[in-house]
Amino acid sequence: MRKTLPFTNEFLLELTEQYPTPFYLYDEAAIRRNARRFITAFDGFPAFQEYFAVKAAPNPHLLKIFKEEGCGVDCSSLAELLLAERVGFSGHDIFMSSNDTPAVEFEKAKEMGAIINLDDISHIDFVEKTVGLPEMISCRYNPGPLRTGNSIIGNPIEAKYGFTRDQIYEGYKILKDKGIRRFGIHTMVASNELNPDYFLETARMMFDLVYKLKVIVGVDIEVINLGGGLGIPYIPEDKPINYEELANDVMAIYQEKILDRGLFPSKIAFESGRLMTGPYGYLVTKVLHKKETYKDYIGLDACMANLMRPALYNAYHHITVIGKENDRLDHKYDIVGSLCENNDKFAIDRYMPKLDIGDILVFHDVGAHGHCMGFNYNGKLRSAELLWHGDRDCEMIRRAETMDDYFATLNF
Ligand SMILES: *Cc1c(COP(=O)(O)O)cnc(C)c1O
Repeated sequence: MRKTLPFTNEFLLELTEQYPTPFYLYDEAAIRRNARRFITAFDGFPAFQEYFAVKAAPNPHLLKIFKEEGCGVDCSSLAELLLAERVGFSGHDIFMSSNDTPAVEFEKAKEMGAIINLDDISHIDFVEKTVGLPEMISCRYNPGPLRTGNSIIGNPIEAKYGFTRDQIYEGYKILKDKGIRRFGIHTMVASNELNPDYFLETARMMFDLVYKLKVIVGVDIEVINLGGGLGIPYIPEDKPINYEELANDVMAIYQEKILDRGLFPSKIAFESGRLMTGPYGYLVTKVLHKKETYKDYIGLDACMANLMRPALYNAYHHITVIGKENDRLDHKYDIVGSLCENNDKFAIDRYMPKLDIGDILVFHDVGAHGHCMGFNYNGKLRSAELLWHGDRDCEMIRRAETMDDYFATLNF
């Protein structure tokens, strides 16, 4: 599918006059439409919840949108819990899925009434001794050799997350013996996965596990969290996940493995980040320099500190050049940032229209794991974030960092 922008070039150019590039721009209407469609697809279940993974786009203005659309939040750190609290999330609308968790984070999660998702069997004791066990607990399952992971998250057996197969039964038994009566269960074995079969296999595995936990340990699982990891079509030829098909197929498995077995009608949950904001965020940048040496380089005013995914995962992000949308892609460039790191490249050997200094380049699909991965290496400052409400209505929801911010933590 051809990737296009939801706003006019005229509007975008106006924005670049008002706000210095680079900046992030999020499309509010598209975020809402997608959230509604995703949630509605799962209407057939007794209960369903999407816990938006805060780490993907930790801006309270975006969290507020998800709250209004009926989502909960998935938090994995103290800062994420505090952000969720400021926006008004509380209780079981918060799923605390963290690992290597400090006591203060368990303490805050418990105080907020969150569903605490334990990453390890030793955390049962740790939580009990440090902050006391909360009323509802979930455990994160790592199927190990039963599943093969995908490229970003890796092979489950090599992944640091979760309880093993043996530990999961033991864990729920210990929790039950300690008087816990309300349980969730969680797994996440893929990241950016576009093949829906992957999630069907996960559902099958989890529903069978829930059955065995009932038979062997005698616990009812109220929430089955199938994790995040639903992929988005970064590459124009990629096929997006069909939510309605996914929901129908999960429902068939749920009917057979949960309802027909007379088990507790568990709530089904996802904790997606990428799927919820990824396609609806854009990074707007400008060409600063052209350089012709052994290769042809285009130097942007953005760098890896603004968008790390290409350098970190060799990820593809589609680029639209404003005003040159229909030009022939007959020039091959490396599109780079200014870090003193040779992997600070947004694209390598990418065929583009002929580019000139001053051209505006818009990166697609940066709404998740984009701005938030930013860092200050080389003294680079993180950019502003703008939220586009539609028409000509745009709001700055995070200002750009300044040199004062950079110097603020130095003690001299
Ligand atoms: C990162 C993460 C998510 C979100 O992943 P997406 O790929 O953005 O859907 C959800 N849950 C946990 C535990 C995570 O670490």
